[in-house]
Amino acid sequence: MYRTHTCGELRLANIGENVTLSGWVQRTRKMGGMTFVDLRDRYGITQLVFNNEINASLCDQANKLGREYVLQVKGVVSERSSKNSKVSTGDIEIIVSEMQILNTAQVPPFTIEDNTDGGDDIRMQYRYLDLRRNCVRANLELRHKMAFEVRKYLDEHGFIEVETPVLIKSTPEGARDFVVPSRMNPGQFYALPQSPQTFKQLLMVSGFDRYFQIVKCFRDEDLRADRQPEFTQIDCEMSFVEQEDIINLFEGMSKYLFKTIKGIDLPDFPRMTWHDAMKYYGSDKPDTRFDMKFVELDGILKGHGFSVFDNAKYIGGICAKGAATYTRKQLDALTDFVKKPQIGAKGMVYARIENDGTVKSSVDKFYSQDVLQAMKSAMHAEVGDLILILSGDDVQKTRKQLCELRLEMGNQLGLRDKNKYSCLWVIDFPLFEWSEEDHRFYAMHHPFTSPKLEDVDLLDTDPGAVRANAYDMVINGVEVGGGSIRIHDSELQHKMFKLLGFTPEKAEAQFGFLMNAFKYGAPPHGGLAYGLDRFVSLFAGLDSIRDCIAFPKNNAGRDVMIDAPSVLDDDQLKELNLKININ
Ligand code: ASP
Repeated sequence: MYRTHTCGELRLANIGENVTLSGWVQRTRKMGGMTFVDLRDRYGITQLVFNNEINASLCDQANKLGREYVLQVKGVVSERSSKNSKVSTGDIEIIVSEMQILNTAQVPPFTIEDNTDGGDDIRMQYRYLDLRRNCVRANLELRHKMAFEVRKYLDEHGFIEVETPVLIKSTPEGARDFVVPSRMNPGQFYALPQSPQTFKQLLMVSGFDRYFQIVKCFRDEDLRADRQPEFTQIDCEMSFVEQEDIINLFEGMSKYLFKTIKGIDLPDFPRMTWHDAMKYYGSDKPDTRFDMKFVELDGILKGHGFSVFDNAKYIGGICAKGAATYTRKQLDALTDFVKKPQIGAKGMVYARIENDGTVKSSVDKFYSQDVLQAMKSAMHAEVGDLILILSGDDVQKTRKQLCELRLEMGNQLGLRDKNKYSCLWVIDFPLFEWSEEDHRFYAMHHPFTSPKLEDVDLLDTDPGAVRANAYDMVINGVEVGGGSIRIHDSELQHKMFKLLGFTPEKAEAQFGFLMNAFKYGAPPHGGLAYGLDRFVSLFAGLDSIRDCIAFPKNNAGRDVMIDAPSVLDDDQLKELNLKININ
C-alpha cells in the first residue's frame, strides 16, 4: 500500500498512529541534528522529521533529497512543538522510521510555489509542473466542481446531455473555422464546430425537449485574455419555451452555482435593453459593479464656440466620484490613455468640482460658470468629483471610447472588486448589425435567431430596426452566456438567409439539412450557451481564462509544451492530397 493517508489529512486526533504517506518533496530544511521535509500531494503538505541522533543513516538520506523527489515514508504521527496555523496539518508531524525514494527528479525549471519565480513561457512549457502549484490546481478543482454542479442542476431540471460531432461542416457563428482535411474524401474538409448550434436545434426537432452538453468549441480568431482557439461551452436548448422561460431557468442555474460554490445569495438579475446598455455604458456587456453612467451633454455644451464640441455628433461625460484630487499629471496620463491607438479618442476634456461648488474645466475659456453649473447638475456631480468628457463624430465609436475610460476609472478608483458580483441580462438586441465595410447586414447573434414577433413586419421595410429575441447574461462586465429563441419556421428562416445575403442555392448548400428538418414538425425552441472558461475565471477572480484551462494555448495559438501546431511530413501530406504553398 503506497499510503494510508494523504498529505492533507492528519490532525491532532491521529497522534500516535503509524502511517504511510506518499508525495513530492516541497522543501528540505536542516536544523542542527534534525532534518525537516515538507511532503506535498494534491491534498496538502505534511511535515516529516528525521532525527540524526535516532537514525543517522536515514537522516543522511533525507539531507540528500532533491526538490520534487517522489517519496514513500512510514512513521508515527506526533504533536509539533511549534505549530503552524497556516496549514491544515500544522499541528502534527511525522517522525519517519522508513523512507523509500519512489523516483528522483531533476531540479524543476521554476519553484513549485504559489509565488513562483517562473515566467509565463517557461511555466507553459512545463505546464505539468505548473499544475502542481496550489493556485493553479485550485482553479481546476473549481472548474470540476462547477461543471459537476451544472450537470446536477440541469439533470434535476430534466435536461439530458447529448454529444454532438466534432468533425462537421462549417457553422455560422461568425468566426473563422478550423478545418480538418479528409483523407477518404480527397480535396474535402471537415470544419470543427464553433458551437453545436445546428445539432442542438436538430435535437429539438427530434423531440429531445431539453438538451445540454459541456462541449469543446473551436474558433479561429485573434486571441485575447478571454479567448482561446478551443474553449468550452455549457450548451443548452429547450423546446416549447419563450424567452422568459429560458431566462428564468438559467438565472436559476447561475444563482444555484453562486450559492453552492461561493455561498453567495444573489438577488434577481436586472434586465437592461441593448439600447440602454449602449447609451449608458457604451457596451453590450456593461460592468455594473459601479455606476458612473454616461450622460449626454450635447444639449448643454454645443454652441458656445468650442469647435471640437460644436462639430461633434456626440458629447458624453462620466462623473468620477471624489476624483477631483487627480493631479495634472494623472489627468495627462488619462488623456494619453484615451488617445492610445486601440482606443482612438482625439482628446479628453475634464472638469473638477471645487470645494466652493464652482466648476473648473480644461475648456473654461469657452464656457461661462452658468453653463458649467448646468453640466454639473446634469451629471449629478458634487463637490470633490471629477467630470471626464469625450466627443466625436461617430456616436458608437465615441461611446466605446468612453466605455474604456469608464472602466479605467473604475480600475483606478478600486470600483471593480473581484469579490463583488453584479449580474444582469442584456435583452432586445438588434437582429442585424450593418457592416459599413461590406455594405450588408450580418446577424448580430447568428442566422437562426428569431426576430421579435411584433417586429417581423419591419424585416421588409427597416431590417436595421428589428429587435431579436436574444439575451446575454453579463456578470461584472463579462458576457458569460448568451442565446436566443430560434426561428422554427422554414419560410421565415429562408427570409432571414435572404436578408443576410445568401442566395437560395448557397442557403441550401450550407443549411439545407436544417431547412429540411424544419419541414418535419419543428417545435418552437430556444437556448443559450455559457462560456465555461469565462464563468470559472469569474468565480476564481482570474484575469485570464488560460489559468483555468489545464493545457491552454498561448497568444499565438501555440501549445508550447507539445509544440503544436507543427508541420506534417511529406507522406502525411501526400496521403491527404495536400500541397503546402508558403515561401
Ligand atoms: N451557439 C450560440 C453561441 O455559441 C449560443 C446559442 O445561441 O445558444 O454563442
